[in-house]
This record gives sequence, C-alpha cells and structure tokens, in this order.
Amino acid sequence: MTDPRGRLDTTKLLAARYRAANDRPYLASALYALTVVPSPDVPTMGVDRHWRCYVSPAFVDATPVEELAGVWIHEVAHLLRDHHGRAGRLPAADQRDRYRVNVAQDCEINDDLLTDGLRLPAGRVEPRLYGLPEGRLFETYLPQLPPHVREHDCGSGAHGRPAPWDLPGTAALGDVEAQALRRHTAEAMRAHQRSRGTLPAGWQRWAEELLEPTVDWRQALSGAVREAAAWAAGAIDYTYRRPSRRTPALRGVVLPSLRRPLPRVAVVVDTSGSMGDDELAAALGEVTGVLREVGVRGNRVTVLACDADVHAVSRVTATDQITLGGGGGTDMRVGIEAALAARDRPSIVIVLTDGFTPWPAETPSCRLIAALIGEGAPQPPGWVETVRVPA
Ligand SMILES: [Zn+2]
Repeated sequence: MTDPRGRLDTTKLLAARYRAANDRPYLASALYALTVVPSPDVPTMGVDRHWRCYVSPAFVDATPVEELAGVWIHEVAHLLRDHHGRAGRLPAADQRDRYRVNVAQDCEINDDLLTDGLRLPAGRVEPRLYGLPEGRLFETYLPQLPPHVREHDCGSGAHGRPAPWDLPGTAALGDVEAQALRRHTAEAMRAHQRSRGTLPAGWQRWAEELLEPTVDWRQALSGAVREAAAWAAGAIDYTYRRPSRRTPALRGVVLPSLRRPLPRVAVVVDTSGSMGDDELAAALGEVTGVLREVGVRGNRVTVLACDADVHAVSRVTATDQITLGGGGGTDMRVGIEAALAARDRPSIVIVLTDGFTPWPAETPSCRLIAALIGEGAPQPPGWVETVRVPA
C-alpha cells in the first residue's frame, strides 16, 4: 500500500537489501556501501558515482521484496562494473545518448542476473529483446541497439550524465574507496567460487579482469618493436662524424650525420611446434606489420626459422614458408647467433617462442625482444624485453 505521505518504506527496502546480501554474500560489502536517498523524482531506483542509491518510494511500495532484492543487485552492478567511468571513455556522441548507453548497460547486467536465478521486475531489459547474444559488455551492445531506444534511467552512476535527482557534492565513498571495494568484491567472488564451486559467468569474467587485467599484447609488441626501431635508427643516426672542414664557423661542434639509415631487424621464429600456429602467425603478422609501418622492410628484415630438432636455421622470405616442427628441445640461442653472424648484422633481434629455451648468457650487442607465446612460458633473463602473447 502506498504511503499517502509518499514516505519511503525503509523496512521493506532494507529487508530487500538484506535478502540480496544474504543470497549473494560476495556482494554484501558493496550493497551495504550504498547510501539510500529517497527521491520522488527517480522513476524506480538509480545510483550516482558516489555510491548513493536514489529510491522512489512508490516503486518500493509496488514491488515485491524478492524483485527489489534483484534491483539492489542490478544497481550495485552498475557501480561495481564502473559503468559511469567506462561511459566516460565512449566517443562524445555516444556519451550524450544516455538512454541508449543505459539500455546497453542493463543488457550487460541483466542477462547474468537472470541466469543466476534472480528475479527482476517486469519490463526489464535483456539482450534478447533486441535480438542480441548474451554475455557481452555494454560497449559491444551499444552500437547494435536500435536508435532512440529509451527505457530505464539508472542514474549518473550508470550512464555518466547528470540526473535531475542527483544530490550536490560527494558522498562518503570516493573513487579510491570504490576501487578498493571493487577489488574486495572480486576477491570475495573468487573465494566463493573456490568454496562453493559456482559463480555466474559474467561475474567470473569481471573478477578475473579486475584482479588480473589482460594487457593487449598487440599493442605491447608493436610498441616494443616501434621503440626499438626508433632507438636503433637514432643510434646510427647520431654516430658523430668528423666535422667538415668547410664549416669553420662550427669549429669544435661535432655534427651528427644527416644520413638516417634504418635499422636491420632479424626475426627468429621458434618452430618447435609446442605453440599454436594461430598465435605464432598473429605475432609474426604484428611484428612485420609494425616494421613495414616504420619503413623497415625488404632486405632490412630477415626471418629465421629455428628448427629445434636439427638446430638448423633457415632464412625465409615469406611468412607462409614457416612450418612448425614436431616439438623437441628448443634452443633459440642457435637462431640468435645465426642472426648476429650475418654480414649485415641486425641491431634488433625479435624472437617468437614459447619460452622453453635457453637464452644467451650475456647481453648480446643488440636489442633483443622476446614475444612469449602461450600460457606458462618461463621468464627469460631480465635484459630480454618480453611481451606475453596469451594462447
Ligand atoms: Zn540499470
């Protein structure tokens, strides 16, 4: 029954939060970190980035406790998943489209909640309402939603735009505390999964990504290659020559050469066959792509296939000439030595390997970058720049 004075039924609302926290104990800390703000302006429930939860008294009256418990989890999911922070990294035009952003975010949250057996009020948003697959992030859903879609408004803590009901100022929970709370929640989820053996897939991915963020290996590898190429070009560029006699005014000033030769690069490929063809091809494609971009091409790039069984090294001219062998002990030192023994000595050697190989005992006189392909690759010595390429 609606309270005629429009007062919030706190007992019912807090009973619903208690139920949510009891059913999903790993969310308890996050749920209890929310500050309740009664508001007749918010359509149902909504959050701001300071972990205030705005609640419509009429909505609480009209909604059964079990569904309210689901909405509590829905709202806290917006904040745990840092939806407002992620919305702020969208292109400006997308950011302004708050309702579409909100619907995309609700799709990200609700498919997991429903799979998890939680109840949500009728009219809830789900990916399948828009013919979309489950289990994606809102950034993926957003461009696939029809234009002008307009459903719920879960507040500035979701879509990131100011809401008319937002209180001014900041609440007790700052960004640092919020991040600590996210970490704590992710760890509680892991502990729950270990002891009970269950955790919804969406939360599992979220906790994993939060606790062990994956770096984009393509970016890391191309960055390392680009940087090494710039370094090598600079090192050659600024080998100072004897100043010309025709520049007496600059007597005593040593001018760098104007010539800017590009570095030579050797790519040594481990063909021992213990890593995936696809990952190897992807890593090699990334390396050769970046080298082309910085202008290191043609005979400046040598690709060597290091065969494990016979320790033979062959020079290949096209990447499809590389065939993976059948396992066996790998020794990438053979490939690195062969690369450095060439008449046109490379200043950069890039090794693509699963990492199960001995490395040269000391720093060779070149930049050595190792792309370690696959899980569990042992760590090379510290002087080898490494980029991990997960399988
Ligand atoms: Zn929402």
